[in-house]
Amino acid sequence: MTDLLRRAYDAREFRSQGHALIDRLANYLERVENQPANPFATPEDSLAHFRELLGGAAGEKEPPTTEQLFDAVINRSVHLHHPAYLGHQIVPPAPLAALGDVAASLLNTGMAVFEMGRPGTAMERVVIEQFAQMLELAPTAGGFLTSGGTLANLTGLLAARAHKLGQHDTPLTKPCLLVNAQAHYCIDRAAHIMGWGKEGIIHVPYDGEMRMRTALIDGLVEQAEARGLMPVAIVGSACTTSTGSYDDLSAIADAAQRHGLWFHVDGAHGGAIRLDPKRKHRAAGLERADSFTMDFHKMLLTPALTTALFFREDRAAYRTFQQRADYLLSNSRDEREWFNVAKRSFECTKRMLSLRVYSLLYAYGPELFRDYVVRVGDLGAELASMVRKKADLELLMEPDVNIVCFRFRPFGRAVGSSALDELNAMIRSDLTTDGAIYLVQTVVNGTTYLRCTIANAFTQTQTLGEMLERIVDTGIRLLEVRQGLGR
Ligand SMILES: *Cc1c(COP(=O)(O)O)cnc(C)c1O
Repeated sequence: MTDLLRRAYDAREFRSQGHALIDRLANYLERVENQPANPFATPEDSLAHFRELLGGAAGEKEPPTTEQLFDAVINRSVHLHHPAYLGHQIVPPAPLAALGDVAASLLNTGMAVFEMGRPGTAMERVVIEQFAQMLELAPTAGGFLTSGGTLANLTGLLAARAHKLGQHDTPLTKPCLLVNAQAHYCIDRAAHIMGWGKEGIIHVPYDGEMRMRTALIDGLVEQAEARGLMPVAIVGSACTTSTGSYDDLSAIADAAQRHGLWFHVDGAHGGAIRLDPKRKHRAAGLERADSFTMDFHKMLLTPALTTALFFREDRAAYRTFQQRADYLLSNSRDEREWFNVAKRSFECTKRMLSLRVYSLLYAYGPELFRDYVVRVGDLGAELASMVRKKADLELLMEPDVNIVCFRFRPFGRAVGSSALDELNAMIRSDLTTDGAIYLVQTVVNGTTYLRCTIANAFTQTQTLGEMLERIVDTGIRLLEVRQGLGR
């Protein structure tokens, strides 16, 4: 036993490091507004800093305190808890869920089989049951937690394949799936991973609001069959990532029924809208999905990655993976062996994801999740109405949820479409280097838009108003520079 090993496991050292860290994080939460939402740094700056930090620590005679390390990580991160964080669709986690993560990490009871992850497995079952009810899924619904929407979508589609093809995963006819051309790229990736190739992905065209044109499904299925393909599944987006558009899930469910297709819903971002009484109609038909992905780290207050994969028939989840692993899983064919989660999930060892959600249910109740979803949905609608009132801004579409896309388009000035795209990209880049506000951009039908996700429930109307003014001022300034240059 070396001194070094003893020190690394020393309870007293842990206690003092832990107290210091929690104090720092609490101070951070109290004061996050006093710094830019997005402290800008280039990849080279960041790399140099963390090389130096480690070099410095190695050169010290005394053991380094961890405070400098945690400060560097905290101060140099993009600040999701900042009210001007309006960027990618990841939620500022409720602090209690992060505390649960500390406990889960220290215990490290990797879940695969029940005896290794007893509390985690039981809590996972409760979380799935509670959310199936809160989201008004079918009474037969079940599922499990997994690491991310990307993996959940792949797993749902593997279930579709197992359902349609049984154990013949290299069938004679080429399988394919249908999906909105605006869907998240991970659906295409899943089809490629399954070996279905380019042909195996049929993109259904979308309408002016980026929703799947469901009237085209029948024709596309027939054309695919005529080409010798075997349609296996159809994927609805609830919502799309880029513009937050909900497909008409009821119409897709009807089509799936007509053609005997597995109906998967990618609700990674927006499945949670079912908790919002005013907006849940946008995801009507979700309860008919054979499988459905929902990220808790997008709209449900937990650290990443925490994802539920639900099945309308809980039993269907057991048919996805049927390998044997004698050292790990009993050879029982009992589908209801719910407590050995690795029978259903892609992962073998899995974090205790359930504690993040369970702790919030335990301390605050299900209303917490609803309050958040309603609040950010309301703020999305408010931002859209503020954009509409500004003559120099153009709203892409009335938002369904907390994702709002718009662009700078100066009133009464003739600016060509490629110049407008460039201007909007320059506005975004200007705001990013400045760092006070963090938003992103997207391209829809070849046109560049600024894109905000209201992720922080504490964002105020005032912050949104200041951001829009900044955008217009920056746009006008950049335009004048361009015109000054005679372009
Ligand atoms: C974010 C997102 C994903 C990817 O989920 P991860 O949790 O990042 O793997 C997939 N689909 C949609 C619609 C998303 O918004």
